Parts: sequence; C-alpha cells; structure tokens
Amino acid sequence: MNAGIISIVIRQPTHKSKRNEALLQDRVKKMGYSKEFHCDHCGYKRMILYESGMSFPQTYQKVLSAVKSGEYGDEMKNTAVTTKGIAIDAEWDLFICSNCGTWKNDYGLTLYEPDDDTAYAEKDYVTPYEIQINYHMKKPYFHKCPTCGKRMHRFKQGDQPICPICHQVGHIDPLGIWD
Ligand SMILES: [Zn+2]
Ligand SMILES: [Zn+2]
Repeated sequence: MNAGIISIVIRQPTHKSKRNEALLQDRVKKMGYSKEFHCDHCGYKRMILYESGMSFPQTYQKVLSAVKSGEYGDEMKNTAVTTKGIAIDAEWDLFICSNCGTWKNDYGLTLYEPDDDTAYAEKDYVTPYEIQINYHMKKPYFHKCPTCGKRMHRFKQGDQPICPICHQVGHIDPLGIWD
C-alpha cells in the first residue's frame, strides 16, 4: 500500500487566529516515523519510533490516564490532576542515559498548562502543534534510566548516536512511517 504524501501549509499564526490554526491542525491525520540505528562495530540494530501514528487520540488518553493514576510518580500525578486544562506530550521520542548510555524509546510525558486557563477545559487530546502555540510547560518529566536509575536526556537531531551496547559511534537512517 502506498503511504501517500501529506502536504500541509501552515501559515504563521497571528494571535487572533491561533485557536483556528490549532483546530485545523487537529484535523490533519498524522503519522509517526521510524529510524533505524545500526552499529558497525558490534552489529547492534534497533528501530526507533518518533512522533505518533493515527491512533494518537487513543494513545494520548492512555498516557494521560497512566500519569493521573500515579504510574509516573506522585508529583506528576498531582500536577496532572490539579492543573486546569492539563496537556501532555504523548509523542514517541528517544532518550539516552547521561550516565551509562542506555537507550529508551518512550513518550515525552512533559506536562503543559494552557496559556489562558479560563479559555480551555481539558481536551480529549492535544496535538504537539497546539501545545506549541497555546500552552506552556508546567512540569517536565525526567526519564529515569532503566539500567542505572540516573537521569536520561532527549536525543536531538545532530547528536552523535553512541551504541548502547559497545559505546562506539553508530549511524541512524530513516526507516519509514507508521500509523
Ligand atoms: Zn555497538
Ligand atoms: Zn543509565
């Protein structure tokens, strides 16, 4: 099946049109994409997921419910439950342990609050685009390394991918899109 190319023209949002732009963006079906890490030294290979597929609304609810039920700690739970119009980064990203180099592909999980807390009730889901224009950060989530327990950082474009197994530099290539 052909994946098709979705072309979106996003006008620079003015203050007045912010809300409409966000609603427009909500209607755009989006897809996640994946990349593959490969290490030439030890042969380690793994797929990395980014963003989210078309099941984003379901994923968003699942992730936010998990935070509200305390799965990610009491501070996250309290912030999510008590902040009016709470929103969460429910997209996939790659996190690397700053201490031992372990990798974790996980949701972003940072919590956001609406800029205008009188205008927005809590929504079924909030797209990353809407978070960007109508929200500000309320509480960052610090991903904890599953191996050593230390803090992880987000792997950014341009960072050198270090193999989590042999600690040599590997390479990351585009793999595809997913939904
Ligand atoms: Zn390796
Ligand atoms: Zn670690």
